[in-house]
Amino acid sequence: MRVVLATNNAKKLAELRRLVDEQQLDLTVLGLADVAAYPEPAETERTFEGNALLKARACRDATGEPALADDSGIEVDLLNNMPGVRSARWAGKGATDQQNLDLLIAQLADTDPAERTGRFVCAMAYAAPDGTEHVLRATMEGHLVSTPVGANGFGYDPIFVADGNTRTNAELSPAEKDAISHRGKAVRAMLHWLVRRG
Ligand code: IMP
Repeated sequence: MRVVLATNNAKKLAELRRLVDEQQLDLTVLGLADVAAYPEPAETERTFEGNALLKARACRDATGEPALADDSGIEVDLLNNMPGVRSARWAGKGATDQQNLDLLIAQLADTDPAERTGRFVCAMAYAAPDGTEHVLRATMEGHLVSTPVGANGFGYDPIFVADGNTRTNAELSPAEKDAISHRGKAVRAMLHWLVRRG
């Protein structure tokens, strides 16, 4: 069986291939570099699931192959679950991770640490040429600290401490983060579903 992961992110592709290898699955994972280029859709949906499905469908339709896509971000309870699907562009179109992080820190500056709860969310969608579709969501619950700590990871990792941890995500090794992360959980759940489906 083969599947195209609709991402230009080399780390996401490597992560999926690593998990497929670890679990000794009979699944070949192609990236967008392995298929003919097609116009990627704008992420116009208001939910992670909607955006993941939109990307998986576009890839399936363009390539004629079974396709996987994900969409992720951070939800902060005090901000009514924002940044949410706007996480990558929180400080505006083309914003850097650092600008997005700085803005979120500023927005939470005068808040009670005990109330700064939130979660990372990852939706993963599968769309096959026969019309089969499957979407799932996984989360990593935690709280946000006001001062960034750690140099690993990316995005909002330096201010996020997962439940059960005392270190920020940016202080975890990649393997430690994979084991508990929203994306790690979503990828494992999707692989489980794909394999059971055969
Ligand atoms: P995308 O799903 O790769 O487009 O990621 C959306 C945005 O959510 C990223 O640009 C980050 O700002 C944020 N994000 C998603 N997952 C993580 C994570 O594991 N750590 C830190 N930030 C994340």
